[in-house]
Amino acid sequence: MNYDYDFFVIGAGSGGVRAARIAAQHGARVAIAEDDKVGGTCVIRGCVPKKLFVHAAHFADELEDSIGFGWTTKGVKFDWPTLRDNVNADTDWLSGIYIRNLERSGAELIRSRAVLEDAHTIRLVGEDRSVTAKYILIATGGRPVVDESVPGFEHAIVSDDLFHLERLPRRMVIIGGGYIALEFAAIFNAFAVETTVAHRGADILRGFDADVRKAVHAALEHRGIDVSCGTKITRIERKDDGLVATTTGGDELAADQVLFAIGRSPNTVGLGLEEAGVVSEPDGRIEVDRYSRTNVESIYAVGDVTNRIQLTPIAIREGEAVADTLFGGRPTALDHADIPTAVFTQPEVGTVGLTEEAAKAAHDAVDIYKASFKPLHHRVAGREERMLLKLVVDGDTDRVLGFHGVGDGAAEMAQLVAVAIKMGATKADFDATVALHPTQSEELVTMR
Ligand code: FAD
Ligand code: NDP
Repeated sequence: MNYDYDFFVIGAGSGGVRAARIAAQHGARVAIAEDDKVGGTCVIRGCVPKKLFVHAAHFADELEDSIGFGWTTKGVKFDWPTLRDNVNADTDWLSGIYIRNLERSGAELIRSRAVLEDAHTIRLVGEDRSVTAKYILIATGGRPVVDESVPGFEHAIVSDDLFHLERLPRRMVIIGGGYIALEFAAIFNAFAVETTVAHRGADILRGFDADVRKAVHAALEHRGIDVSCGTKITRIERKDDGLVATTTGGDELAADQVLFAIGRSPNTVGLGLEEAGVVSEPDGRIEVDRYSRTNVESIYAVGDVTNRIQLTPIAIREGEAVADTLFGGRPTALDHADIPTAVFTQPEVGTVGLTEEAAKAAHDAVDIYKASFKPLHHRVAGREERMLLKLVVDGDTDRVLGFHGVGDGAAEMAQLVAVAIKMGATKADFDATVALHPTQSEELVTMR
């Protein structure tokens, strides 16, 4: 059968762009459809603009800390429109780079919404035509959800909106206790926004190591963020002087903005999964095997639209693996174990491997090494915050199973410890490594 393309990718985000480029480099005839800005969540409304906001937020600490080092900062001001507009200009620039890289690879970029008609046919909704492909990749990502059961939910915003706020709110209520809730709580708190986190669970950051959860909670509170756990918002109302979010306990939280940061749902609605026979879970996430193949032989799916981890490097690696499998003559499955991740709060979290709780559930003997200290810089800055570093070690084999850090540089450390863990490093290997002094990460090789 003659198809228009060897490979048709739906969605030009992290996973889709990588898959399309690599497949084209392998010699496949590739097209990729995108109905919004090229680059997807990470580039346009996720990791990249968020990290730029994090950098902006860090200046608040640096300015405050600089006084102890002899600087005078009187009269320094923060201007939200300058940050917002500069960040948006940067994402536009980056989106342009993505487009040029796609063009250079030889993949054809089609600016249209695409939906499935059957296992080999794609409808280009914006162009009112259909095309066929031997293989199809669904890389449509996800979108932020709101809880529509909360009366007045329509007054709230989601993370996408944060990059376009006309003005900085004076007071903000953030619903959720995961990555997005806490990262933006720290960002807006640094911009002097009165910030409340309302989280339904007993503690924030479910799934993270208990020591990390405790340390981040305490640090955010110490910085002036009201982190209220066991709290559900039951109603949001617009009043004359702003919004009021009512809690289960009957408290009324006044705010200029209320943010839902309660997870994301996959972009599968109206995508034609049924028409093509693709099976998805009740929440819409597409089920795939270790090669990212769906139950339909010609259709693959990667990234946030699947039932796996929602991180950019995962989407990218999964996309690359599909291209290598189909067109590179190299069946490739991504190993989803020991994936490093960071929560870019202030102070930041970096982690990789097993938490203490997970290690104890899976291993007979587990040794824990912890260091909690005030970094050199903080002593002169007069900052009370302590750094936490923790290694989780298999007591039988001495292998390092997990690393958990809270404090400056923890994310950068997690990336490098991930290499050691992937290589099977033991605690004895860490101990045999000479410290680099004076750094924070030297504690990783001096913990006894
Ligand atoms: P996406 O990047 O979302 O791309 C999907 C693309 O498909 C979109 O461009 C969309 O417009 C398009 N599309 C959808 N449907 C169609 C259709 N029918 N036709 C045509 N096009 C379509 N991850 C990290 O690793 N580190 C971070 O620091 C980080 N920070 C984040 C901060 C925020 C605020 C958010 C929301 C996410 C963050 N993430 C982070 C997660 C990361 O952004 C995602 O995991 C990643 O972007 C997923 O890539 P993807 O390719 O699966 O989907
Ligand atoms: P998360 O899954 O991290 O957190 C969702 C939070 O919302 C949890 O605290 C959850 O509570 C709570 N929640 C869920 N449903 C409700 C509800 N109906 N009412 C009240 N609270 C609710 O999702 P995010 O939206 O923060 O981020 C989405 C994903 O994007 C992340 O999982 C991550 O993969 C990715 N991301 C990565 C970042 C990074 O790498 N630095 C940064 C930002 C996002 P509970 O714990 O009780 O379920």
